[in-house]
Amino acid sequence: MKEYIFGIDIGGTTIKLGLFKNDGKLLDKWEINTRKELNGKYIIQDIVSTLEEKLKNKNIIKDDIMGIGIGVPGPISEDGTVLMCVNIGWGVFNVVEEFQKLINLPIKVSNDANVAALGEMWQGGGKGYENVVMITLGTGVGGGIIVNSKVISGSHGAGGEIGHMNVSNNETKMCGCGNKGCLEQYASATGIVRTAKELLSNTTSSSRLRDVQNLSSKDIFDAAKNEDELAIKVIDDLGDKLGTALAHISCIVDPEVFVIGGGVANAGDILIKTVQKYFRKNAFHASIDTRFELAKLGNDAGIYGAAKLIL
Ligand code: ZN
Repeated sequence: MKEYIFGIDIGGTTIKLGLFKNDGKLLDKWEINTRKELNGKYIIQDIVSTLEEKLKNKNIIKDDIMGIGIGVPGPISEDGTVLMCVNIGWGVFNVVEEFQKLINLPIKVSNDANVAALGEMWQGGGKGYENVVMITLGTGVGGGIIVNSKVISGSHGAGGEIGHMNVSNNETKMCGCGNKGCLEQYASATGIVRTAKELLSNTTSSSRLRDVQNLSSKDIFDAAKNEDELAIKVIDDLGDKLGTALAHISCIVDPEVFVIGGGVANAGDILIKTVQKYFRKNAFHASIDTRFELAKLGNDAGIYGAAKLIL
């Protein structure tokens, strides 16, 4: 068995790269900037150059590399064709073929949220399980669904787009995707702040949040932990929408564990407890005891999962 694997996570501002042993141990990680100019045409050659440099520095020969796994920020079909990655300027082309023109190694590509889920299943919060649903609460809401250790990316690459499940028919503002009432509009960091601001302007009740400049989701969780009633209401609304959405998901894929990550998940226990409360209220009785875990790999989930694509 060849000894090393590269795991790569292509993001809108940086590309994260990891060199792994085939047993899952991360040996080295580094980052390069994502050059987005000219529709991201330099991205692939930048990655190949930095990998070749790394091989040289580490005295590793190409024959010892099992393959390169890559997570890209957009929908991608089974054969490696990207279908528009707006964040990095990519249109429609086959990523695997473009890489292989420059470097002769096995290449596997998948969507970044799915790859992060795979990483958490392999070495993070979902370790030891084979049926995992990962939810990433950051600026947006991402998701990844793993059934029997396999990522479900669906026929349009949209499998696991949990953030765009409709959870409200009363929404008047539009989500980034063009629909209204998506989970992302309430459960993302941006969404939580928006809910708080709306509550603050619609009520006169006192709240420590009224004096906070540049309100963040962390301020709201901190206030809720200190029993600020308005903040508790905001977190409760988030828990209701997210917990109910996860109850729907459990009726479809019935995972062993939900892993929650992203910046918002730094809130910890209070988030898990609130989401779990509404999950249990709405879940089908057989899946009511589904576990909830916090993600453990942070920003490294993507490189771990990308490496796992090769194994
Ligand atoms: Zn949406």
